[in-house]
Amino acid sequence: TSLHQQEDDTSLPKMPPFDYTPPPYTGPSAHEILLKRQTYLNPAIFHFYKKPLNLVDGKMQYLYDENGRRYLDAFGGIATVCCGHCHPEVVESIVNQTKRLQHSTVLYLNHAVADFAEALASKLPGDLKVVFFTNSGTEANELALMMARLYTGCQDVISLRNGYHGNAAGTMGSTAQSSYKFNVVQTGVHHALNPDQYRGVFGSDGLKYARDLDDLITYGTSGRVAGFIAEAIQGVGGILELAPGYLPAVYDRVRKAGGICIADEVQSGFARTGSHFWGFEGHGVVPDIVTMAKGIGNGIPLGAVVTTPEIAKVLTNRSYFNTFGGNPVCTAGGLAVLRVIEKEKLQQNAFSVGSYLKNRLTSLMEKHEIIGDVRGRGLMLGVELVTDRQSKTPAKVEILRVMEQMKEMGVLIGKGGFYGNVFRVTPPLCFTKEDADFLVDVMDYSMSKM
Ligand code: PLP
Repeated sequence: TSLHQQEDDTSLPKMPPFDYTPPPYTGPSAHEILLKRQTYLNPAIFHFYKKPLNLVDGKMQYLYDENGRRYLDAFGGIATVCCGHCHPEVVESIVNQTKRLQHSTVLYLNHAVADFAEALASKLPGDLKVVFFTNSGTEANELALMMARLYTGCQDVISLRNGYHGNAAGTMGSTAQSSYKFNVVQTGVHHALNPDQYRGVFGSDGLKYARDLDDLITYGTSGRVAGFIAEAIQGVGGILELAPGYLPAVYDRVRKAGGICIADEVQSGFARTGSHFWGFEGHGVVPDIVTMAKGIGNGIPLGAVVTTPEIAKVLTNRSYFNTFGGNPVCTAGGLAVLRVIEKEKLQQNAFSVGSYLKNRLTSLMEKHEIIGDVRGRGLMLGVELVTDRQSKTPAKVEILRVMEQMKEMGVLIGKGGFYGNVFRVTPPLCFTKEDADFLVDVMDYSMSKM
């Protein structure tokens, strides 16, 4: 079923109206780009769709292909676009800064960098106020792990099975999914049992999983650790919310072992979970280091590590430096992102639209046996597909078919999880209730057509 049929057939779901016409596209065709991509870019790169999409324009929660065809973006560039594609205020801030000073390093003063650091620190609790800027989430986590090791003098780091923290040496070591591990030397990293409420052996009993981590420290280390790193909601791992009670118990245990608690907020930060600005707040903990990227810049390359003055000393004493971290163009963009989240009440919107969407997705379970689980918070939702609810066998092929049909009808959705069978719904936070209805109606129709 294609969009053309949607226009003719009134019984099919209709995309909400949106008042924007992208400028005409005069660039190369999708086929020409694909040929170049196969030769000059990593040929192993995975395409979501049989016919890869050529996206040329974006406006708020919508994307446009080379023919001006509109798509509802329910993936948000992997949970990255928070204010909306090309949000005018963010664009203006970036353009103005670019015209004035495109690059300077942290070796000099610049107001955009200092203002953004101050604004970020004001969003964090406790003593978390010293900011180190990076270019990505991977780099932020590398830095955080290094700080924990330098600060404690220990090497042992604990992360969660099914967690994802990046793809450089240290972060690939702490990531615990075989498909993301290459030839990595993983010295000192221990992977604890995942407090996975859907497939985990202890269900939703966070304290039982915490006991496993306690054993891990007792038997697997000297009794002293450098730190613990986890996402509040695992994103790449398939939108898994850690079992309640787990994080407070584990933070306590890690601190008793002399370790630093690191919250990886690369996906769950910047109002995405709706109930809170940061994912960790939903678990009632205060980390020692918070890492962030993705939503921080609405799509521009930016990441950050925020920590306490005490922990920050390990780097300030060594004059830590990177060329692009704290680039004024990126931080000017980041400042605008914080302003827009506040002004447009995007956290409240993520909460209300996200709750509505989750309810609607959950009710689809009555109709479609293939939906094994619906989970997540705010606009960070997961829909896990299984061929059998009892055995929870991952519906790996079926999800691709549903995804393809949804694209044909104008909805782009993400997918992930260890088995690749979980829809990831992480749209821009300006997503509306009408968008949510359209998404669910298209998913419903696509599942019926399977
Ligand atoms: N941490 C989490 C939770 C992520 O989801 C990701 C990326 O998906 C990363 C870290 C790595 O970030 P980046 O891809 O910007 O290096």
